[in-house]
Amino acid sequence: MKVTVFGTGYVGLVQGAALAEVGHEVCCIDVDPAKVAALEEGVIPIYEPGLDRLVQENAAAGRLTFSTDPAHGVAHGRVIFIAVGTPPGADGGADLSHVLAVAQTVGERMEAPRLVINKSTVPVGTEAAVRARIAEALAARDRAELDFDVVSNPEFLKEGSAVADCMRPDRIVVGVTRDDSEALLRELFAPFNRNREKMIVMDPRSAELTKYAANCMLATKISFMNEIAAIADRLGCDIEAVRQGIGSDPRIGYHFIYAGAGYGGSCFPKDVKALIHTARAAGCEPHVLRAVEDRNADAKTAIFEKMQAHFGARFGERGLKGRTIALWGLAFKPNTDDMREASARVLMEALWQAGATVQAYDPQAMEETQRIYGSRDDLRLCGTKEAALSGADALVVMTEWRMFQSPDFEAVREALSEPVLFDGRNLYDPERMQGHGFTHYGIGRGARA
Ligand code: NAD
Repeated sequence: MKVTVFGTGYVGLVQGAALAEVGHEVCCIDVDPAKVAALEEGVIPIYEPGLDRLVQENAAAGRLTFSTDPAHGVAHGRVIFIAVGTPPGADGGADLSHVLAVAQTVGERMEAPRLVINKSTVPVGTEAAVRARIAEALAARDRAELDFDVVSNPEFLKEGSAVADCMRPDRIVVGVTRDDSEALLRELFAPFNRNREKMIVMDPRSAELTKYAANCMLATKISFMNEIAAIADRLGCDIEAVRQGIGSDPRIGYHFIYAGAGYGGSCFPKDVKALIHTARAAGCEPHVLRAVEDRNADAKTAIFEKMQAHFGARFGERGLKGRTIALWGLAFKPNTDDMREASARVLMEALWQAGATVQAYDPQAMEETQRIYGSRDDLRLCGTKEAALSGADALVVMTEWRMFQSPDFEAVREALSEPVLFDGRNLYDPERMQGHGFTHYGIGRGARA
């Protein structure tokens, strides 16, 4: 099938490449000429495991092409995906300007029937808004007779495993009303729907809400555990023991119940905000979602507060001023270079405010950090995790990359001027760390000297 994808970010590029891999003829359109030029050269602008091979092989086979020309995109695809960004607007609601710009383009250019599939995360009612925008643009050209349909198909991939998630989705949610559109979707997604029925068909508004409900449920799990961790800290309990104790109940389960330095990324923070906005606009006060946000804001500053308390006790008013802090992990989670709303950013900015210098290492997100913060005296980006330790007064871990899980603790202790470890992701066992001679601070684990 001929497919066009508008937007070559984490979602559009991965979806486009996955569809090409199973044999569809895919054209990816983006408004960013630098991104398109890079992709045409086989350079992948984001880090996502397995994506470079998928893109390069399918581009070489001629099944995956890139362009900045929207007219070409609309002419190419019988089905047209919208996979552009929906950042938070000034009022917390999703900014739909990019989504509606694509709808406008489709209405202005289409010459034959088109199925528009909205993959961006959008508030309830957007399918109707996209439909209205296309219809208006067609009417303005006196082409109202041209047939088109708009369906909702939210994306559930996870950054860091986006290719695997897209090639083997656990569900394909579609919000569709017309039988012929559902049939086309079934044909398009058939290669991803083979071993069992994964397609969950519903009305478009419910499909739109499903995406927000999924992300908000996951954010709630994290904030809930961070709340219990904050309580555990005050009471001298160990959140890791509590986690295992509750996870063994199948009604709760072990997935996604780790305490840590808060959630970040491009999705959870903006989607919780957007659903709060949607709920209020619908006259429903979102008590739980508000608390999820509040707890996450506290979780993002918890490690800094522990550092302030530690260095305040050691150096009085000077506290963190003039200290050098080794930071392992910048990305908002492992296996990505994405720094959007990363907890490490909140920490670094607080450390700088307090007069500390940061020596940071991340396997993928250093370039992005450099791009965001530029050159500054109080940020040293180091080539290895070992180099980040040299002469530092403490180590703080903010992203649970595998390579941070079992370092040579003796070497870490020797490189630091003081053996203090702030563990923002509860990677290390406090008693073992004590055995290695560290003062260890975790999340919900108490400090052990
Ligand atoms: P992104 O910011 O990485 O990419 C969006 C791309 O769209 C950019 O390359 C931008 O240049 C391009 N674009 C903007 N306007 C355009 C236009 N008019 N025509 C063509 N291209 C245009 O965003 P993303 O992370 O891929 O997310 C896209 C959508 O998918 C968002 O709504 C997001 O909430 C949702 N989503 C994201 C994830 C994720 O993990 N990143 C997961 C599921 C859903």
